[in-house]
Amino acid sequence: MKKEYIIPIFVPHIGCPNNCTFCNQKRISGQTKMVTAKDVEETIEYYLKNFRDNHKYVEVAFFGGSFTAIEKEKQEELLEATQKYIKEKLVNSIRISTRPDCIDKEILKRMKKYHVKTIELGVQSTNNYILSKCKRGHTGEDVKKASKLIRKYGFVLGHQMMVGLPESTKQDEINTAKELIKLKPKIVRIYPVLVIKDTELADEYEKGEYTPLTVGQAVERCKEIVDLFNRNKINVIRIGLQNTEEISDPSTEKSSVVAGPYHPAFRQLVESSMWYDSIVNKIKKVNAKVKKVKIIANDVNINNIIGHKKENIEKLKDVYDVEVVIERNDEIKPGKFELEILESYE
Ligand code: SF4
Repeated sequence: MKKEYIIPIFVPHIGCPNNCTFCNQKRISGQTKMVTAKDVEETIEYYLKNFRDNHKYVEVAFFGGSFTAIEKEKQEELLEATQKYIKEKLVNSIRISTRPDCIDKEILKRMKKYHVKTIELGVQSTNNYILSKCKRGHTGEDVKKASKLIRKYGFVLGHQMMVGLPESTKQDEINTAKELIKLKPKIVRIYPVLVIKDTELADEYEKGEYTPLTVGQAVERCKEIVDLFNRNKINVIRIGLQNTEEISDPSTEKSSVVAGPYHPAFRQLVESSMWYDSIVNKIKKVNAKVKKVKIIANDVNINNIIGHKKENIEKLKDVYDVEVVIERNDEIKPGKFELEILESYE
């Protein structure tokens, strides 16, 4: 299988007609100037030069603002700049992200013409009350319509959803995930809400009107949603915002994060916590008071089984008084594990 490489191009907030209360795209991308065709070409050239692998699949991804909300001429300018690389097969596909109310047949025909393969929709929630609280400017109905149209036109559909939006409960987020599953996305990104500087949400936070989730709460909420997507074979490609100079620990000088469940290894926290639950469940099914176990698993899962800073191993000892030994075995399918009881109490 070819290794996938992404060439990210950030389209800043100028491209978006909206002002969601939690968003300040200028800060998230660290960029305020609109990109040009020249920027696109330079970025592609730069990345292509640095990819060493000859057997690769390269995708140009327009991240950031709402791609199809920017003026038509600008969309065409940016997409046109990618076409020679597509023709020369140096780039294999294009991905864009946009808002659910910025999709219609004409837009999709334009995306097809320029070989866009994947369209990711910023959904955030399917609950209209929660959407209006954070001034998203679209409804859950828009999400359904756009998703169906995107799939009908043969694009790969992606969804992005948030946990911890103002007044959103755990159940609201589970409901959103279930609604999305019905719309059959291929890929999903899950973002716990961070309070970013110079946003309405930051004002609400300062006034005590919004309380962000703690890291622990965000992990718990994401875990259930990830499990739902996993069970429906939907690929969760990201959990938590990507770490950058701006999206970093709130105590660092350049960070734009004011508060919220920031963690540099957030995805690992979620996945490790899911492994912890599976291991505990399996231990509980053993008909004896277990003292020491061996967990045998594929190498790709070992870090998550051990947990961030060995958290799972220590928790099993502290909470259940169980000592754990790990064995790598690549014959075990990734995602699965075997449990061997080495010692139990009389
Ligand atoms: S639609 Fe997206 S880019 Fe625009 S303000 Fe909202 S979150 Fe930011």
